[in-house]
Amino acid sequence: MSVRIGITCGWRESEQKHLLHEEYVRAVASEGAVPVLLPSVAPELAEYYYNMVDGVLFSGGDDIDPSYFGEEPVAALGEITPKRDGFELKLAQLCLQGKNPVFGICRGIQLLNVALGGTLHQDIGHLSGLMHNQKAPRTHTVHQVDVAAGSRLHKILGATSIRVNSYHHQALNQPAKPLVVTAHSRDGLIEAVEADQEDVFCLAVQWHPECTYPVDAFSRKLFAAFVEEVKKKVI
Ligand code: MN
Repeated sequence: MSVRIGITCGWRESEQKHLLHEEYVRAVASEGAVPVLLPSVAPELAEYYYNMVDGVLFSGGDDIDPSYFGEEPVAALGEITPKRDGFELKLAQLCLQGKNPVFGICRGIQLLNVALGGTLHQDIGHLSGLMHNQKAPRTHTVHQVDVAAGSRLHKILGATSIRVNSYHHQALNQPAKPLVVTAHSRDGLIEAVEADQEDVFCLAVQWHPECTYPVDAFSRKLFAAFVEEVKKKVI
């Protein structure tokens, strides 16, 4: 049976365009689910979209407006997209109700954390000498991530240390209460979180498994576990 997975999209204000890398669509479809692209519409419509799909994937993209976690913008803050922030934050707040399994990628982990009351490092340049914004091809893994033993992430991957790609200049600072940190890079930055509730699948990573999906077994395991969870909820 087919399940519908909503994937949030980027928004380019200057071109008035919604954007999504094909890699997300391909990974979701390859696992046998139906990808549904979610535009950044008025926040009031978030609940409608939430109910229309069976699972939600928060995709990567621009920085989140730091006013949502009570901070003034630092000089190194990247582009922000208020239209996208408004829709996604509302959608994320619905997600821990448990009906829809949730998977967050890159901006997605940050978005979920902010929506639940956590904070971000607006720019990690001064925090770490580790390169988190790789120049290598998107399918190439560049740094190590250590996974917390016993976590859901650990059970999915079947490993306590894996290599991942990296395209971020921000990272989680204070994790929001319902989330537990389940992976770190070797410089101590947060690379994955999950909800600490057995009945709620809410898992998010700072790297981009959709890019490595065609070449990396761990990336495939992540998408497979997410889609399997969505199917379990629907049946
Ligand atoms: Mn990284």
